[in-house]
Amino acid sequence: MIQKLMPPVSRHPLTRALVTRTPLARGIIDRFVAGPSDTDAIAAVAGLADLGLLATVDLLGEDITRAQDAADTLLAYLGLLDLADRAGIAAGLDVSVKLSALGQAVPRDGRKLSYENAAELCARAAAANATVTLDMEDHTTTDSTLDTLVELRRDFPFVGAVLQAQLLRTETDCRDLATAGSRVRLCKGAYREPSAVAYQGRPAVAAAYARCLGILLTGSGYPMIATHDPALLNLAGRFAEHVGRLPATFEYQLLYGVRPGEQRRLASTGATVRVYVPYGADCVPYLTRRLVERPTNLLLAARALRSR
Ligand code: FAD
Repeated sequence: MIQKLMPPVSRHPLTRALVTRTPLARGIIDRFVAGPSDTDAIAAVAGLADLGLLATVDLLGEDITRAQDAADTLLAYLGLLDLADRAGIAAGLDVSVKLSALGQAVPRDGRKLSYENAAELCARAAAANATVTLDMEDHTTTDSTLDTLVELRRDFPFVGAVLQAQLLRTETDCRDLATAGSRVRLCKGAYREPSAVAYQGRPAVAAAYARCLGILLTGSGYPMIATHDPALLNLAGRFAEHVGRLPATFEYQLLYGVRPGEQRRLASTGATVRVYVPYGADCVPYLTRRLVERPTNLLLAARALRSR
């Protein structure tokens, strides 16, 4: 029920005001978002590096339907990479981007526009020795996102994709993408999807995740294991060891502010760990997804506020 209500509610202007201006909201934002500006993002990346953690940075914003807004998003990403370059932390940095933020949903030429914008971003990332990962959105965009991935990888083989274990198609997609040089982030999937295309319920999604893990870890690509689920993290570690994967041949990815102790613990075992760092003013849809998947995140934020 809460999952059904949250997306429309999150788009309401009153919700946006409440979600960004109350003290509890500020607590949630501070915990899960690096800050409104690119300098906040760079500071967060530098702080993570001090802890031995890599980063992938995401400029918040989605549902863009005007070409000018997509161009603005591209400029903001290019500015972020310039800043990272100047700070000496661009090499090894990853940039996460939603094709919808680069114009995929712009009427008429959306797919072409998002490809061109993504290619420009990739060219800048290549110059900085950074990488790019295409975030995955709801299932109506899976085919177009994977098609764009194939096109981009012709010129920029470092571009990675995200697969969502909850989708029925994903085991097949894992097999297709578990090839040399292919960076694949495996997550459960943050969007509510119908039973025609997706497993329903946590146990079924976790079981699908485990199967996909097996495919990616036994393949020859570079798996990026994105979950906070203790059982799946444990399984991934044991399976990677079983198939003889060295720490440099796969990585764990966790969200900024979520299980920070586990992020450090994994890194202390010698594992490669990357933290997904969102920044920007348009944080409501992102935070809504975090609260829907784990309502106790509200309690965490409330506790953090009380202890200030
Ligand atoms: P959940 O099912 O949410 O949680 C499982 C267990 O993990 C919980 O029972 C608890 O034990 C533990 N846990 C979870 N959160 C906490 C917490 N705050 N504190 C303590 N314990 C906790 N989704 C997409 O659809 N597209 C994307 O491109 C995408 N990119 C992602 C990138 C990264 C790096 C990550 C980590 C996730 C991404 N997601 C993406 C979101 C993902 O699909 C899930 O919605 C999200 O990660 C929650 O699923 P989970 O596997 O972490 O486990």
